[in-house]
Amino acid sequence: MMGTTAAAVPWGRLMPEAGREAARIVDSACVRLWLGEVAARLEAERDFLTQLDAAIGDADHGVNMHRGFTAVMARVSAVEEATPGQLLRVAGRTFVSTVGGAAGPLYGTAFLAAGGALGDTERFGPRVLLDALRASLEGVQRVGAASVGDKTMVDALSPALDAYELELRVGGSLETAVNGAREAAVAGMRATIPLQARKGRASYLGPRSVGHQDPGATSTALMFAALEQAVIADRSQRFAAGARRPVSGS
Ligand code: ADP
Ligand code: MG
Repeated sequence: MMGTTAAAVPWGRLMPEAGREAARIVDSACVRLWLGEVAARLEAERDFLTQLDAAIGDADHGVNMHRGFTAVMARVSAVEEATPGQLLRVAGRTFVSTVGGAAGPLYGTAFLAAGGALGDTERFGPRVLLDALRASLEGVQRVGAASVGDKTMVDALSPALDAYELELRVGGSLETAVNGAREAAVAGMRATIPLQARKGRASYLGPRSVGHQDPGATSTALMFAALEQAVIADRSQRFAAGARRPVSGS
């Protein structure tokens, strides 16, 4: 009989990437994986980020980010039941209250804006994630007024979102979208090297800021690498868990 074929495929529900936005595949567990991955990478890259900031700033970016994310992980781990949006709002508030300088309010605003855009939805797909990421960029630009080319975190964030969006437009999945975003963020980060800073502390150096990679663009690229890693890890955990965790909230 026609029509029973799909239901007869037992692993059908484990394959949400079949081009359906209805598949809601990001949830709190995935967001927790992402935050944990960012924290681990910031710990590993703390000294590198600080060295980058020593060249064109005040040598505190790695220390700032690491302190902020250590506090974020402590707060987020203490929250047992929370939606993705709530987790990101906790992260944003923690960041604003524990990290000074430029990066604290900027990243804090980014997390708060993403959390606000998500509201209290428990599970969502790649398009909703794009809206949340766009809200982050808007927040960063509202607070810092930087554009692409000013040698800031915006130079990694903005192209990452464009690549993510393009990937979805051509029919890509969450996995290919976060992969494209990570690649574009890394390219944007590298492209800050020849730029002269027009925003933030590095702008005080004028032409002497040329030839150095921007620390904030580097930490943003790190966050997209962590996002890709979290999405991949989350996917393998789903497969390992079989039907115990739903892949679709629709
Ligand atoms: P501070 O400059 O106050 O010491 P950090 O060292 O933690 O703060 O962060 C520096 C990074 O912040 C820069 O490398 C840059 O990417 C980012 N940044 C600075 N000012 C702005 C701005 N107006 N908009 C966006 N990002 C900015
Ligand atoms: Mg600094």
